[in-house]
Parts: sequence; C-alpha cells; structure tokens
Amino acid sequence: MSAYPNTAVETTGSESADPCCAAPLPVLGRDVTVPLVTGGEVTYAALDYAASAPALQRVWDDVAAYAPYYGSVHRGAGYLSQLSTDLFENSRVTVAEFLDCRPGDQVVFTRSTTDSLNLLARTIPSGCEVFVFETEHHASLLPWQDARVTYLNAPRTPAQAVETLELALAGRDPYGPALVCVTGASNVTGELWPVKELAAAAHAHGARIVLDAAQLAPHHPVSVQELDVDWVAFSGHKLYAPFGSGVLAGRSDWLQEAEPYLAGGGASRKVARRADGGVDVEWHTTAARHEAGSPNVIGVYSIASACKALTEAGFDELVAREQHLIDTVRAGLAEVPEVKVLSLFGDDAPRVGVISFVVEGWNSSHFAAALSAEYGIGVRDGLFCAHPLVRTLLGSDPQDPGECGAPEAAPGERSLNAIRVSFGAGT
Ligand code: PLP
Repeated sequence: MSAYPNTAVETTGSESADPCCAAPLPVLGRDVTVPLVTGGEVTYAALDYAASAPALQRVWDDVAAYAPYYGSVHRGAGYLSQLSTDLFENSRVTVAEFLDCRPGDQVVFTRSTTDSLNLLARTIPSGCEVFVFETEHHASLLPWQDARVTYLNAPRTPAQAVETLELALAGRDPYGPALVCVTGASNVTGELWPVKELAAAAHAHGARIVLDAAQLAPHHPVSVQELDVDWVAFSGHKLYAPFGSGVLAGRSDWLQEAEPYLAGGGASRKVARRADGGVDVEWHTTAARHEAGSPNVIGVYSIASACKALTEAGFDELVAREQHLIDTVRAGLAEVPEVKVLSLFGDDAPRVGVISFVVEGWNSSHFAAALSAEYGIGVRDGLFCAHPLVRTLLGSDPQDPGECGAPEAAPGERSLNAIRVSFGAGT
C-alpha cells in the first residue's frame, strides 16, 4: 500500500512493448499514477533518469531482505554487526568487479559522484595541475578550485577533445603532478566522450585521469583496465540504487598519502593522548581512511545489488534496447520543426539515453511544467548543473553569470534554458 493517496507502489515485471528488444528491467514506480490539471490521472512517465533513476525492483527486494538484519558496520561482535560488515566489505568486491578494477585499486564508498570528486580533489598532491573541459557537470568542474586549474574550451568533435587536451598538457610543467577530469557521457547531450583516447593522452604527458561515470555507468559497462583511467566516480541513485551512496574507485597511492577526507572513528587505527596534552593519530591506509563515521551500509549494499543486476541482465541487451529508445525519441523530435536538439558532437555521435532540446517560442521551464501537468511526463528543465555547456549549446554567452530560468522566448528568439528527457534500463 502507498503512503500517498493516488500512487500505487506495487510493481510488476514489465513486458517488452517493443518486439525488437528485451524487456526493460523491473523498476519501482512503473505503476504510479499522478493527477493531471485537466482532471483525472495518468500513469506517470519517469523520463528523468539522468537526475535520479528509479530503484530496480531487484535492489528494493535485496534491501528489504537485508533490512531486518541491519546492524552497525565494523563496530560490533554481534551477529547482525558481523553480517552487516560482511555485506559492506563484499559490496566493495562487487563494485571492484563491476568496474573491472586493477589489483590494488581501492573502492571508497562516498555519498555521491560530487562527494567522490571532492574527495579526490582533497587528495591531489601539492602543486598538481588540473585540466577539465568547460563542458563538464559542475560536480567535475568545481572541486578543483584550490588547485591550478586549466579550463579547456568546448570541443566540437571527440577528436578535437583529444587534440585540445594534448595541446594543453604539452604546455604543462612536465615534472609536477597533473590530473585530467572528464565525463564518460554528458548529462546534457548524452554524448559519449572518447575516454580511452583522453586517458592515453593524459598518460602520454605524465598526467592522471579521473572518469566521471555518473551518466556512463548506468548505461554502459565501465572497465577501469580497458579504458586505462586512474579513478572512476559514480552515484548509486543514478544506477537504480537510491539509498544515498556513491563510489570513488582507483589508484590507492594518492588516496593513502592524503589526509583523511573526514576525521573520526573508522578512519583511525590508533589514537593516543600525548604527554603534551594533544593526541597522536594513526590513520588507516585502506579505503577506510576516507570513510570515517558509521557507513551507509544500505546505500552501499544497494549499489552492489544494482551492479549485479545490470551485469546479469547483460549490457549488450540493455544498450540495444536503449539505442532503440534513443532512435525513437530522436525521430519523434525531428518531426517537430520548432524543436532543436542540443548536441556538441553532431547527430551521429554515439550517445546514451539523455536528450536535451529547446522548443522555439517556448520557455523551457513552462514546457516541462506543461508536460507534467497535462501529460504526467516527468522531465528536467534548466541548465542541468552544466551552465557553461548549455549556454554554449544555446548560443548564449558561456561566461554569462545569469540565473537559470528565462523570460518567455518569443518565436524566433533563443530559449535561455532547455528541456531534458532521459531514460534507461527500466524504461
Ligand atoms: N556528473 C555528472 C555527469 C552528472 O550528471 C551528475 C549529476 O547529475 C553528477 C556528476 C553529480 O552527481 P551527484 O548529484 O549524484 O553527486
């Protein structure tokens, strides 16, 4: 039964509506009904996966099965505590397998991609130069403010992205540390970035690279070894595991040499009073160093459950199904002359199920609100926490510090924000 009057949280496994593809993975919320301003109600169409994806039924079931056994992690001799600790530590192994990590890599559990990248930013060696494209989500764009950051201009092809990075790295101090931060799939255009080539360019110039896989991991397999990236970050809530956890996985050296991200129990191995009245602390050198405090075992377990569910479903099937949906949505949008789909790399670029567009003569926020109120379709509107990129794509000034939202765009005028539909394995 639902806590909300007009929703039904009961879920069903779904039949495939498309004979060409496998069925979507069962997710919660498929049968939720929402009221319409025109009266009556309609089954909600969740098309905002890029913000937060619905929970996989499998994840929900796994969490429900574990919930009665919930206990503290790393902090108890009791059975429930031991079980919870095992579940937590086994989840690390599952995530390492999901990401095809190298032996010796560490999986640190965080709150989200934003948290993961901020953690990494706190571990970079002093004097480190950071290179980041202006097209990144703010989570990748902003954590490096304390470093020497070079913001790279938006490329118009994947090859140009590699050239731009190579040129920038060629001018860097070859003896100092450097880090490149790049997205795997854009949260605005859905376009895939040439991660493997960017990683090769970074390494050729002695730099390291972190992959923001927030939008990639839910749609494609991510192999740390195959892509040869140094770190990967992603969020559980975009990977059908909405319980407040995220991941930073990769090389252990910078992580272990840095001060703990948070100071507290769990990160410290030994703490003793000193004769001078202070305290001496010996910090862990494992992932626990950056996981102080009681960990979010349900969040972590749900990520592991989602990793297993996606792997078992098979990414080949999932990608084929999603490509069919992408083609269908794009073909539908192409039939409406007033619609302009936003793209950096062009129509033929490989992409995930994230499509942003503007409708001539419409304020995007009003358009998105109308989709919800009149049709029960949930999408996102705005600048998607990627202000410089969206402004570039809309033809407005990427340096404009103006606010999200825009006055009514008259016919022929540019909209100053956009509408985004996004979907995935549960659609
Ligand atoms: N990176 C990308 C590409 C994203 O799309 C997002 C969120 O939309 C983030 C990072 C930040 O993720 P979170 O809000 O889960 O920290």
